[in-house]
Amino acid sequence: MNLILMGPPGAGKGTQAERIVAEFSIPHISTGDAFRAAMKQGTPLGVKAKEYVDAGLLVPDEVTIGIVRERLQQDDCKGGFMLDGFPRTISQAEALDEILKSLDSGIDHVVNLKVDRGLLLARLTGRRICRSCGATYHELFNPPAKAGVCDKCGGELYQRSDDTEEKVGTRLDEYLNKTAPLLAYYEAKGLLRELNGERDIDEVTAELRSLLRGQD
Ligand SMILES: [Zn+2]
Repeated sequence: MNLILMGPPGAGKGTQAERIVAEFSIPHISTGDAFRAAMKQGTPLGVKAKEYVDAGLLVPDEVTIGIVRERLQQDDCKGGFMLDGFPRTISQAEALDEILKSLDSGIDHVVNLKVDRGLLLARLTGRRICRSCGATYHELFNPPAKAGVCDKCGGELYQRSDDTEEKVGTRLDEYLNKTAPLLAYYEAKGLLRELNGERDIDEVTAELRSLLRGQD
């Protein structure tokens, strides 16, 4: 089963990814990991990628695509794989189609975890940190007994500047704008499966599992 998992920050993608790769015994391929492996092994593409990374530059598409191609040709991908964080653009998606075609393979499912923007904001902006002892809380998931006060030491809780609604909202909108064309691309191919990611983590896993089992 060849799977692409998509979802905005705060949608719970990491947890679902972990569970699915364990259950289906397929490798979890993120571009970050594939890059690090190629750089560590010193493959020609890894060396090239490292030059860009060391210079603080964006790694060009042809290098990224080459590294993904090499990763997908490795033995552990023969029984399927889960891509996470790739493709990010239509041109990468087209390149991926070409790679898989040359391997006599293709994408089976593109799963997108859908969560309302307001809920994503609440999840991503809820973190609070104690000024005195550094303990962390979350307004939704792990609230202190008394709002704004640390349970452990009575210190004042604050929000990191990166966690403000303005900063998080900008990051979120960038993600949503960038991935919308990609979702449309896979929808047109009949591969897109949208999953309601607003529910309990276990419920989402159960639906994802039956979706993947049912159409295997
Ligand atoms: Zn404290």
